[in-house]
Amino acid sequence: MWPFRSHKQPARRFRYESFGGIAQLGTPRALVFIDRERARSLGHTDGGSTWGGDEASLDRVLTAPLEAHLQLTNRCDAGCRGCYTGASPQGDRHEWGPVEWKRAIDHLAERGVFHLALGGGESAHLPWLGEIAAHARARGLVPNLTTSGLITPEELERLRGWAPLFGQINVSLDGVGEVYARVRGCDGFAQADTAIVALRRATRHVGINCVVTRENFDHLEELFRYARKRRLAEVELLRFKPSGRGAGCYEQLRCSDEQHRALLPLVLRLARRYRRRVRLDCSYTPMITAHAPDPRLVRWLAIYGCAGGDLLIGAKARGAVTACSFAPPPAGGPNVDTLGDYWGTQEAFGPFRRWREAAREPCRSCEYLALCRGGCRVVSAHVAHDPTAPDPECPRVQAFAMAGTAITRLPVIHSGP
Ligand code: SF4
Ligand code: SF4
Repeated sequence: MWPFRSHKQPARRFRYESFGGIAQLGTPRALVFIDRERARSLGHTDGGSTWGGDEASLDRVLTAPLEAHLQLTNRCDAGCRGCYTGASPQGDRHEWGPVEWKRAIDHLAERGVFHLALGGGESAHLPWLGEIAAHARARGLVPNLTTSGLITPEELERLRGWAPLFGQINVSLDGVGEVYARVRGCDGFAQADTAIVALRRATRHVGINCVVTRENFDHLEELFRYARKRRLAEVELLRFKPSGRGAGCYEQLRCSDEQHRALLPLVLRLARRYRRRVRLDCSYTPMITAHAPDPRLVRWLAIYGCAGGDLLIGAKARGAVTACSFAPPPAGGPNVDTLGDYWGTQEAFGPFRRWREAAREPCRSCEYLALCRGGCRVVSAHVAHDPTAPDPECPRVQAFAMAGTAITRLPVIHSGP
């Protein structure tokens, strides 16, 4: 199914799935999906009931998410105008503390989850953040962290001490210099830069998270140049989502359709020129497939679209499970420390799980549907008032709307693997 050449290196962890299993490697740091034949050849022969029936495709929901995005707090002093979670200096009432989060981590570890993405609000304000990261490590999960870097010198020093516990620390940086303030509505660049420099001295696994808006799109090259100057390995680009305070300024800040069409060629050029690793978030899949890459290559590169409620889940500061960090908790959904009771039920995660039967044209006939799953549900819910609608910002969906059934493709960027 997926290439897996490292016969000699044992997986750190292995989880059985209907198609075979998922192996977690240490070097390179990766989760590798392998079929049953390859799993057997690596000594994983007992799939039990998970291997009952035919070897299934990836259309079938995983036995557990790969990754859980835990919003440890909704407290943050920055007040960014597009904050995806509407964070405030007070945070939410009845936020969970370390006891509840550790219980949740125990539960996720038992379910076989591999990674945690710890965030907020600003979770570096929490005096027990390091305790949570250490607990995750002890239970075999890799904790990663996103921070604004807008924290006190004392908090930064404390975070530096915890840095080796994290697989990756990404600092949110939506622009260099005054572009940062233009996007966020608060002037935090100098403080974020101080945090990046300090954290980079503590660990080499530091990167940037940048929410791409129409304000900073033309300045992405400055961001890549900055990443090279600060020796940051990774730049992660996220599509601006209409959630939290972001819903109120979505039309103002979202990228234009022309920018979406130009994104992939621009990012590939910048990644090559500045030799940085780039990640595009799940919601950008329609903007990638619009350039008609070979679907086998897309799969080989593990580019997935809307994986909410399947490959990933979120949890709000009060513990409520969400399909992804940008989505509201589903009606009747559980807290994350009891996810297992809910995961396998018919109604779990509503429209996120029904992408195959809910797909309308042009998604239904799209060759990338199994990978893209109809685009970003959060954008569809906000713009089309229907989370099951095809992503209204997908170039193929827009071409379909404008020209009936005639679908135009953008220039091909990749050839096949
Ligand atoms: S709704 Fe789907 S595509 Fe959008 S951010 Fe969430 S998981 Fe990603
Ligand atoms: S048409 Fe639908 S499935 Fe295909 S890329 Fe666009 S949003 Fe994704």
